[in-house]
Amino acid sequence: TIRTRFAPSPTGYLHVGGARTALFSWLYARKQGGRFVLRIEDTDLARSTEASVNAILEGMNWLGLDYDEGPFYQTQRFDRYKEVIAQLLAQGDAYYCYCTKEELETLREQQRANKEKPRYDGRWRDRTDSRPGVEPVIRFKNPLTGVVTFRDAIRGEVTFNNSELDDLIIARADGTPTYNLTVVVDDLDMGMTHVIRGDDHINNTPRQINIFNALGATPPVFAHVPMILGDDGARLSKRHGAVSVMSYRDEGYLPEALLNYLVRLGWSHGDQEVFSREEMIQLFDIDDVNRAASSFNTEKLIWLNQHYIKHSEPAYIAEHLQWHLEKRDLDISNGPALTDVIVLLRERVKTLVELADSCRYFYQDVEEYDEKAAKKHLTADSLPILSDFLSRLQALPNWQAALIHSEIKACAEAFGVGMGKVAQPVRVALTGNTVSPSLDLTLALAGRLRTESAIRRVINWIE
Ligand code: GLU
Repeated sequence: TIRTRFAPSPTGYLHVGGARTALFSWLYARKQGGRFVLRIEDTDLARSTEASVNAILEGMNWLGLDYDEGPFYQTQRFDRYKEVIAQLLAQGDAYYCYCTKEELETLREQQRANKEKPRYDGRWRDRTDSRPGVEPVIRFKNPLTGVVTFRDAIRGEVTFNNSELDDLIIARADGTPTYNLTVVVDDLDMGMTHVIRGDDHINNTPRQINIFNALGATPPVFAHVPMILGDDGARLSKRHGAVSVMSYRDEGYLPEALLNYLVRLGWSHGDQEVFSREEMIQLFDIDDVNRAASSFNTEKLIWLNQHYIKHSEPAYIAEHLQWHLEKRDLDISNGPALTDVIVLLRERVKTLVELADSCRYFYQDVEEYDEKAAKKHLTADSLPILSDFLSRLQALPNWQAALIHSEIKACAEAFGVGMGKVAQPVRVALTGNTVSPSLDLTLALAGRLRTESAIRRVINWIE
């Protein structure tokens, strides 16, 4: 079976680039009926934090990228890495290097002066002595000649010359293993068939392949996903605005919209733009991922979000809207079913933040009227109209939009004014402002109690 993984280093939040890599790995496993593994690469003790681990798990969970195994933590596998390092030493594929910092610095300066690439020259490769007082690092004995070639599922054939690769450190002086070693041990032990990751790792891949070979193992298939650029053509980063997955939740995006957006960053299926999760799984293939970098386009994300708000099941939207309402201390037991409110308002909003802001009046009495709206509509002239309309509502046998509509009309006729002269003051009374869906539907949903008390309050306010 196919096995893929997402292997973030917990040194920050889950950003959109990481999320897209995770999505591609997840999709590939799901499509192939395989297994998706989450592995936390936390061996860099100085930079890894628990807060970051939690942020990554939270992001995965919010996006609905569920994993079949894990999370595994590399810090819990140090014994295993030690074992493999010992094996490499024993079979002559690794060696102790006692170079001091000063020595390496001198080497680097010489190389700089000769305009050579900085690289370790292998001076301890064949030595068997040691240097008392110096804690050695352990280096992998990279082959000196020949090439490393692999067929990248996205880029096609990639070749590196071994002469360009130096003997990389696999264990630091303090004994802790380094990324290129741990990643190989884990991908091997965890039976990865496909390694899908950012193309910032492409230079590591030939080194890792050499380690796989030294361990007598067949390397997995590699797929290096091109990077995401901001609208200015530079690699997407914080200064382009939100890059953390959870900040998209905060800004009112639905996870399905973000996922749909991410899958289209570098992957396409004809000119289709909207993909349900099931469709993505069905249609996605790693071979179809574009080789070129893709550009982040916020407008398109907003368009997708709006699409999902308009067309998703109200219950799904409600589930995610809830978080925004709680943040605003809105208690929805004080009003109509959230799904009904969503159906009424969703044509008018682009984000859940807008939706949360605009559904406030269904659950909370207005505390402040918009100044301009109040000045225009809550006037002495509207006072008799509001009183008359209130009595009409009170006389209604049933609280229904059609009946409310007839009363707006009848009231306007009684005063010889347009319906707006009735509707606008009432709208300001209930919502605090002059914009809402059609008034009869809004009042019907707000309920008799909230509507009548809102009108009563503005009557007092005007008086
Ligand atoms: N831990 C690495 C990173 O976060 C990814 C390693 C990999 O996917 O091989 O960049």
